[in-house]
Amino acid sequence: MSLQAIRGTRDIFGPEMLAWHRVEEIFRDVTRTFSYEEFRTPIIESTELFKRGVGEETDIVGKEMYTFDDRGGDSITLRPEMTAPIVRAMIEHSILHHHPLTRLWYAGPQFRYERPQKGRYRQFHQFGAECIGSAHPESDAEIILLAHEVLCRTGLKSFTLELNSLGTASVRQTYRQALIEYLTRNKDGLSDDSQRRITKNPLRVLDSKDRKDKDIIAAAPLLSSFYDDTSAAHFAAVRALLDVAGVPYVINPLLVRGLDYYNQTVFEFTTTALGTQNAIGGGGRYDPLFAMLGGGDVPAVGFSIGIERVVLLLEAEQGGWQEESSRGVYLCAIGDEAILPVQTIAYRLRRAGLHVVTDLQRRSMKAQMKEANKQRVKWTVMIGENELANSTAVLKSMETGEQQTVAQLDLETILMDTHTA
Ligand code: AMP
Repeated sequence: MSLQAIRGTRDIFGPEMLAWHRVEEIFRDVTRTFSYEEFRTPIIESTELFKRGVGEETDIVGKEMYTFDDRGGDSITLRPEMTAPIVRAMIEHSILHHHPLTRLWYAGPQFRYERPQKGRYRQFHQFGAECIGSAHPESDAEIILLAHEVLCRTGLKSFTLELNSLGTASVRQTYRQALIEYLTRNKDGLSDDSQRRITKNPLRVLDSKDRKDKDIIAAAPLLSSFYDDTSAAHFAAVRALLDVAGVPYVINPLLVRGLDYYNQTVFEFTTTALGTQNAIGGGGRYDPLFAMLGGGDVPAVGFSIGIERVVLLLEAEQGGWQEESSRGVYLCAIGDEAILPVQTIAYRLRRAGLHVVTDLQRRSMKAQMKEANKQRVKWTVMIGENELANSTAVLKSMETGEQQTVAQLDLETILMDTHTA
């Protein structure tokens, strides 16, 4: 049997890789303008971290984690999300002692044992940002605006920002109780999954896509009617900041996000262009998480976006991958005597910072010119018998087809000038 990538994992290469680089570059760029710094954590963590930080009743911890005992007998988990690892690291290194307000971003693979389909994988990649140390609505707005800016800069059009507030932790708790009572009264009409969630994770029932649950959910008590003054004022301030920024959103009163650690603002970027996988990214305020992991009372807010989904959506919107624009130079050696000089010049030009391609298969001039076209270079440099005798080279613009003979020693200057032009 031939060897294949594990189910739910993918190889990324070719034109798709260009789209990844573009998205990743935009993310780096935008996080820099918002003054966020990169943070990297290990891919493996102790299983306990996610049990405590994400919650045992969530789908992630209950059904989806890649967990194994290592050779020393410790229970290890491939990270299914990044917020718990980041909070673990903040506490472990006492980072907030020195930087009570910390802004950081991350990007990397996550692992969840889900049923694979288009846009849903077992290894997928997220980038995200966390703003740690402020309980004020400005930080919620900053995080939402950062995420929104990244998506806009990629050129994506077909997405919607959905927004809701879960209220303060105590509001959420009171609502939870009221919801449990309501759902218990209507238990017989609910799907099996929702029935199981009533006491374990009742807010998740509001997220249910099961048709059977629809009417009961529509008539459920609304979170917003439980808001106290603090919750209402916080949410109003976040909305006001988005309004001033001119960022459109819709309020979705059923948006709760699946995880235990959220309070106050929650949001999601959704699309209708990716079938059932309609979430591009999401996040919210997670003030309870630090305490859940032994880090005391630290307010925080963050988001994460799935890179695969952004890339898929770009492909769908643009009707394919964008071709790379032409760049660099192809050095063509005509005859075996030219190979060594051409390789020497190639090395010199590369060290000067130019993008250089040469033939490594000793092919004919015709085959090399064909390759130069395929590589979409801006220039081709040809060196044959005549040029070797005169220390010159024929420089051809692939855009205009014009040719000129230049001294080999001048190549670097000429190409660097056009490179930066
Ligand atoms: P979550 O923390 O579950 O809201 O995930 C944040 C984002 O990560 C989602 O909006 C998706 O874009 C992406 N994501 C989550 N799970 C997967 C998956 N299994 N495959 C691909 N992308 C995913």
